[in-house]
Amino acid sequence: METTLRGIGVSHGVAIGEVRHMGTAVLEPPAKQIPADEAPREQARARQAVEAVAADLIARGNLAGGEAQAVLEAQALMAQDPELIADVERRIAVGSTAERGFYDAFAAYRALLAGAGEYLAGRVADLDDVRNRIVARLLGVPMPGVPDSDEPFVLIARDLAPADTALLDPALVLAFVTEKGGPTSHSAILARAMGVPAVVALPGASELAEGIVVAVDGSTGEVFVEPGPERQSALKEIATERKAAIAASSGSGATSDGHKVPLLANVGGPADVSAAVAAGAEGVGLFRTEFLFLDDSKSAPSEEKQVEAYRKVLAAFPEGRVVVRVLDAGADKPLEFLTSADEPNPALGVRGLRTLLDHPEVLRTQLQALAKAATGLPVYLEVMAPMVADRIDARAFADACCEAGLQAKAGAMVEIPSAALRARSILQEVEFLSLGTNDLAQYTFAADRQVGAVSRLQDPWHPALLDLVAVSAEAARAEGKSCGVCGEAASDPLLACVLTGLGVTSLSMSAASIPYVRATLAKYTLAQCERAASAARAVDTPDEARCAAQAVLSGE
Ligand code: PEP
Ligand code: MG
Repeated sequence: METTLRGIGVSHGVAIGEVRHMGTAVLEPPAKQIPADEAPREQARARQAVEAVAADLIARGNLAGGEAQAVLEAQALMAQDPELIADVERRIAVGSTAERGFYDAFAAYRALLAGAGEYLAGRVADLDDVRNRIVARLLGVPMPGVPDSDEPFVLIARDLAPADTALLDPALVLAFVTEKGGPTSHSAILARAMGVPAVVALPGASELAEGIVVAVDGSTGEVFVEPGPERQSALKEIATERKAAIAASSGSGATSDGHKVPLLANVGGPADVSAAVAAGAEGVGLFRTEFLFLDDSKSAPSEEKQVEAYRKVLAAFPEGRVVVRVLDAGADKPLEFLTSADEPNPALGVRGLRTLLDHPEVLRTQLQALAKAATGLPVYLEVMAPMVADRIDARAFADACCEAGLQAKAGAMVEIPSAALRARSILQEVEFLSLGTNDLAQYTFAADRQVGAVSRLQDPWHPALLDLVAVSAEAARAEGKSCGVCGEAASDPLLACVLTGLGVTSLSMSAASIPYVRATLAKYTLAQCERAASAARAVDTPDEARCAAQAVLSGE
């Protein structure tokens, strides 16, 4: 009999297929003792395994490119962590096998990470994946990961490691569903980048029987278990209608009565540019430059290297707008040479702009590299700072831009509730605002964006978050300046209409979402979007807000 499960839809599309579970078995090697004279050979085996796994992760990264590459390279660095290897060698010296040594050393490391604040706790899935790869290699058993199948399937996992999502074959993996993870987790961001329908935070996902048929709607977050023929044909019809609307939509983003809302792309570097151009992005609304900095954990990339990467992105959008976010290091994006590893609560510590103000030379080099990269290109370069809390932050960033001789509009991201509440004062210092709804939700609801257990509070439909969006957009309108959204909220087509109704002036999202948002926005007038926005703000919960907006837009 058909049952319906509800998670969070994080990547659009409908897929129907058989369930296959991800091979996540934790391989626990036996705790046997080895004689002392075997320790050197065992230590050499341990080092070889680390090198092989790191090389494999890097090779997977090269294949995947873009944001996935940076994530996989970060995992390779985890595997090669000298402290971890030293710990394993110590364990081997007192009689452990290499595989058991890794198993135990990772357990200690894991416990440390799990209790060490937002970013590190969020990386536990990445760490487990690295451990499983090393242990599997040492035991000579198949690597955990995507199941082998010649037939397309719906992939179910507790959580997906970046190494696996990066290599999912869209021809075989019809959709993926995870029990953990939130809308802003790596898995969600990568799924959207790949254009595979995905639902995360689905309770009971890992109990779905292998081989059972499910229908996944990545737009609504619904997963129908053993869908009947009627459900299947209704879903197929919805999918066909959506596809037709998408195919018919092209050009710039606008409501049906011509109110323009530029649709921009979120990119992590030059590798993401072609997908953005193909999706018809009118520019870039968020260039996450930190991916450039992840290549080397010991120092910032040289000015020349930065100029080269920035120029490739800027050159792809002649006459377009490209908003570059300066380095957002700290918390969920730590950098060894810049950020402290022992903050009690990194999400509330020195991160984003705060890190850059502590390291003005890094900011200066980046701004100078941007100025050089834009020279002679017909692009509208804009730069923005992450994690601006108040007018003092905004002024410090605007001053740094001026001092670097940058001829570009300077802006502030609104990711902290104080910035939304005092947006008008921030706009005395900078030219535009961009709402980072991922972090804005995290800080508004005190809900770690990496923790699936609090994903209810990561829902950008929450009326409290909509209130802060409205306050920011109203402030920008009053100051005659722009206020875009570049967080994941912009990639939800219905929410994009609501954001437009709240007065947001541009929407930036993963390239794969642009056609969906464009097609939906083109169906409604600005007045309808405004009514939907008011209705969504008039209720108390995200679900009510979604229903209220839907009811207004469908004329119920
Ligand atoms: C955000 O916080 O919404 C945002 C766009 O920045 P990031 O996801 O990179 O933190
Ligand atoms: Mg952010």
